[in-house]
Amino acid sequence: MLKDLQTLSADDMEGRLVGTPGGARARAYVVDRFKASGIAPLGASYEHPFAFTSGRGGAATPRTGVNVLGVIRGTRTPDRYIVITAHYDHIGVRNGAIFNGADDNASGTAALFALGDYFTANPPAHSLIFAALDAEEAGLQGARRFVADPPVPLEQLLININMDMIGRDANNLLYVVGTHTQRFLKPTIEHIAAAANVTLRMGHDNPDEKGVEDWTRASDHFPFCEAKVPCLYFGVEDFENHHKATDKYETMTHDFYVRVVQTMVVAVKTFDDRGVTR
Ligand SMILES: [Zn+2]
Repeated sequence: MLKDLQTLSADDMEGRLVGTPGGARARAYVVDRFKASGIAPLGASYEHPFAFTSGRGGAATPRTGVNVLGVIRGTRTPDRYIVITAHYDHIGVRNGAIFNGADDNASGTAALFALGDYFTANPPAHSLIFAALDAEEAGLQGARRFVADPPVPLEQLLININMDMIGRDANNLLYVVGTHTQRFLKPTIEHIAAAANVTLRMGHDNPDEKGVEDWTRASDHFPFCEAKVPCLYFGVEDFENHHKATDKYETMTHDFYVRVVQTMVVAVKTFDDRGVTR
């Protein structure tokens, strides 16, 4: 897992900007690792290209992103899906400096492979969709596309579990965002927190809480929330390195990252066991 993290955040990935050779190299690695983890393509191919425009004003030119989508079929209710998302793109090279995006979000992407390895060995009851999304940094474009043109009907999605920046924290603290408005998810989160080997704290989802950033719209879970799919976001507070060239493999909290991914296994397994009841 650490090797995956290191590979995805290496200089030759050139910051994994959407539509660049570095982004394509990262995507090829994701496809290889999906295959190696026993994750099957969702649909005819792993790769789901889409066009988008973003940016201010009318001058924005259309660009192409590519989501990588795979599935592990459930053994009991294969037509109900848990969608696990992590964006693999980052912000590329700026003024000659490579923005490696180790935490943002090589960490979540590599976690997809570890989850794939685990659930191939321990088949889930529900089907699991593994979505390595593109163009998050361009405005959650990959997630917006997933929801606008879903590979399976949205009503068949049990929950979206999004991972974005899960590998750097000195205080062993992982946040889960979304229970403030989706209170029905709280008992399951409490269950997961009790079994977690990191401190799993609910928060960053109350717009009325003074001095605390609201992360409700911060990452790829948000389009799922908007589409009324139950949605949770797992991430850390890392203000110091966020969107800076210092977001590198070497500055990650490696042991914490491993514990977080173990926690994500517990989280997915717990939702698979308990289901989601509103
Ligand atoms: Zn991110």
